[in-house]
Amino acid sequence: MSSGNSSRASVRTSQERQAQARPRPDVACRACSGVNVTVQFGKYGYYLKCADCGGNTPAKPVCAACGQPGKVSKRGLEFTATCAGGHSWAYWTNPA
Ligand SMILES: [Zn+2]
Ligand SMILES: [Zn+2]
Repeated sequence: MSSGNSSRASVRTSQERQAQARPRPDVACRACSGVNVTVQFGKYGYYLKCADCGGNTPAKPVCAACGQPGKVSKRGLEFTATCAGGHSWAYWTNPA
């Protein structure tokens, strides 16, 4: 006694991934995990100011290429991180 195989064609939905909308594990409030933050500069260096809970989180960019910590530099509203391996990447852009 054999049961018939029913083969269903699986339809794959392609998820559109927006680079700017992807989660940034190195840019998130450590208190509420929110990403509604702005980068600010304090006496201990750059930190993330959370607009949701008001918490402060040290800005610690991590290089996606080599995994080393990055150093933050500011240009206007844009913050660039540079690692010891010579990579630099756009870390964050503050809302105007
Ligand atoms: Zn928060
Ligand atoms: Zn690197």
